[in-house]
Amino acid sequence: MLASLSSLVTRRMTPARLGAAYRTSPPWLAKRIALSNFRRTVRWAGIHSKFYRERFAELGINPSSVQKPSDLGDFFTTPQDLIERGPDFLCRKPSIVFESSGTSGKNKRIYFDQAELKEIGVSTAAGFGMMGIGPEDRVANAFDFSIWIPGLMTHYGLMASNCFCLAFGKVDPLEVYRRLQLHQFTVVLGEPTWLIRLTEIAEKDGCKHPLKLLIGGAEEMPAGAFPWMNRVWHGAKVKMCYGSVEQGHAIGFQPCDESGGYHLDTLDFLPELVDVDPDGWGELIFTTLRRNVMPLIRYRTRDVTRVMHERCGCGIYAPRIARIRGRRDELVVASGGNLYPMMFENILRPVPGLTHDWQVVFRLREIREILEIHIETVRPDHEQVRTEIFAQATYQYPDLMKNLALGIFEMAVVFHEPATIRTARKLKRMIDVRHHAALTEPAAAVGLAMENA
Ligand SMILES: [Zn+2]
Repeated sequence: MLASLSSLVTRRMTPARLGAAYRTSPPWLAKRIALSNFRRTVRWAGIHSKFYRERFAELGINPSSVQKPSDLGDFFTTPQDLIERGPDFLCRKPSIVFESSGTSGKNKRIYFDQAELKEIGVSTAAGFGMMGIGPEDRVANAFDFSIWIPGLMTHYGLMASNCFCLAFGKVDPLEVYRRLQLHQFTVVLGEPTWLIRLTEIAEKDGCKHPLKLLIGGAEEMPAGAFPWMNRVWHGAKVKMCYGSVEQGHAIGFQPCDESGGYHLDTLDFLPELVDVDPDGWGELIFTTLRRNVMPLIRYRTRDVTRVMHERCGCGIYAPRIARIRGRRDELVVASGGNLYPMMFENILRPVPGLTHDWQVVFRLREIREILEIHIETVRPDHEQVRTEIFAQATYQYPDLMKNLALGIFEMAVVFHEPATIRTARKLKRMIDVRHHAALTEPAAAVGLAMENA
């Protein structure tokens, strides 16, 4: 009842009203609406989707009796399910499909219909509105428009925002930089690494056209890049969205200036954290609450984060999560501990003269474990760079370095020219080849940086 009422209301929402509802809904109401929509989604999927019908039957789950996520026990959906059985998820006729890149034939597929695309546009515009984009803004959208999703979904959001925009796609940042003044852009959207290259161009040129806001997404921005970008763009705000094609749009965004985490969109998603470690870090999973074509129930994102329990200074009740610490499958148990990409980002950030692209490779020399930190720099004083990296590691992660001192592993720094480590759109930060017998040469390991979106 609450579900159908809320869907009736949200369907008629403008981005501004949806944003206001998001900002002001008390937690008890948001939770009741989310659970009501959760029950509706489970029943709907249990009736209309071959995949859910079969899986629920196998596990003895009666969709009508499911009241809350824990009633589904250890039922989850995974990226592998989308690869193997994508079309079986369908509950009704789709109008569009998005597919992950990669030529293996094993791609994730996500389907939507026109009504959902429209809703995604309104939700995205509501998020953009809270992050500072208004009808008066002029927006350069440099998210990728390839078969994967971000450019197009962002475009729907910008159309619903009623601002002015140019759908660049992921072009050479110089092309966008040259047009900033021409179109009087106030906001630029793109992947973090792309925004970093754009900012490098602006810095060299003395930044003749200040911006109001830059918004990144699709992967995490190195923390050290925020203050630098803010300075180069003469005080522009730099914010992030956290989303994926499976979510269709951003589940996490930054409506306030409190950096360091994301507010979650609990009108469209029911988020949970599973496999939580003693420090509170776990894998984010979510259930879509308003999808009818291809609902995802308890979908495992593989992204590791933790809930930020303190109430945010901006006053919004919606739960917050920390920056994504890494991909669950990028966690490497090595060198006597659990290692995540963010640890190495923290170690490298204070070291001057490095680019934002780096990669850590774990390999074996006979039975000895080697932790190789691959970095890009033009600094000629390699020995000094090495000393600074070791000093940061010792200062920030004494346990890790204690294991190094104990001789549990060896640590090496490998130097590269700028713009040579990244070989694909996304850079895999941690590569474990300890048990890949064929891959003993450093060059082969770095070549593994390719990853299917
Ligand atoms: Zn906040």
